[in-house]
Amino acid sequence: MSGNRIAPGKRRVTKKIRYGGVVVGGGAPISIQSMTTCPASETDRTLDQIAALSKAGCEIVRVSVKAEDDVEALSRICHESRIPVIADIHFDHELAVRSAKNGVQGLRINPGNIGGEENVRRVIEAAGSEGIPVRVGVNSGSIERGLRDLYSEDPARALCGSAIGHLEMIERMGFTDLVFSLKSADPMVTVAANRLFAAENEYPLHVGVTEAGPPLTGTAKSAVALTLLLAEGLGDTVRVSLSGDPVREVLVAAAILSALGLRHDIPDIVSCPTCGRCEIDVAGIAERLERELLGIGKPLRIAVMGCEVNGPGEAKEADIGIAGSREGAVLFEKGKVTGRLEGDITELFVGAVRRMAEES
Ligand code: SF4
Repeated sequence: MSGNRIAPGKRRVTKKIRYGGVVVGGGAPISIQSMTTCPASETDRTLDQIAALSKAGCEIVRVSVKAEDDVEALSRICHESRIPVIADIHFDHELAVRSAKNGVQGLRINPGNIGGEENVRRVIEAAGSEGIPVRVGVNSGSIERGLRDLYSEDPARALCGSAIGHLEMIERMGFTDLVFSLKSADPMVTVAANRLFAAENEYPLHVGVTEAGPPLTGTAKSAVALTLLLAEGLGDTVRVSLSGDPVREVLVAAAILSALGLRHDIPDIVSCPTCGRCEIDVAGIAERLERELLGIGKPLRIAVMGCEVNGPGEAKEADIGIAGSREGAVLFEKGKVTGRLEGDITELFVGAVRRMAEES
């Protein structure tokens, strides 16, 4: 993998928070989060999604808790999930209190919509007695009434004011096991709000663009906001939100962190754009590698090149690579030709990459 483009020392110093076995802040690796897309009460489906997310490289997962049957499903979900589970609750503080007692490793609330300070206190007391952190998530869509005029003039300042107000209220309750997120659907407002907030305190930041959009638009918006923030050392855990399959969110987040040199355990996949010389299905092979191997936790550089004209150079630079040829593909490992692939090249190459990952 290419060098570290962001000096590690440049990251903002933040408080260390633990979601189960995953540390957020305090210099810990920037973790990847996502969210399931079905009600928690559909327990088997939720667990299947969590397994797929985890396999893709997701390290913390959030589930929506909207009703009592979702709360009841949490104990089995938390027991069977391989990654920490955060309950996401709006409006009903009782659901948050009961979720805390049902095994989740964290809560996510927006104190602005949970029904006033006393209800927030009940949630915070429950989190405190279970020893779990709370993420205070402030979104442009749910800014409190008192800040709406400011929001129309300066949305970043309004988001920051909202988050700081919640921070001060919860600190007065004696609770500091907190992560904050300030999100807008506009990436530049998201960046500005996080900069303002980060200048004021040392709580870790969950960064991402809310309602970023369908895969193409959402990926672009997320990459813009995350790159600007992470390049300034702001951000301790990330979520890319995209409409559709959440596994894609994890893959995009992994690719962004890898491209910025902020995670050294994510494969770097290089593939050519193809042209008239291409002899193999470069796009199909590269997409399958992304889908199946970005989460393997190994920093392999993998190259998929279409032909023997320009392909071998890049394939030799990689830990493992192929260059298409008339008879199939030439396989390169650590700079040397180690074989020829014929027949189902995708299957054979994915297998070769898996073997190298297991041995490395
Ligand atoms: S590697 Fe070969 S197929 Fe791919 S873009 Fe370059 S010349 Fe075209």
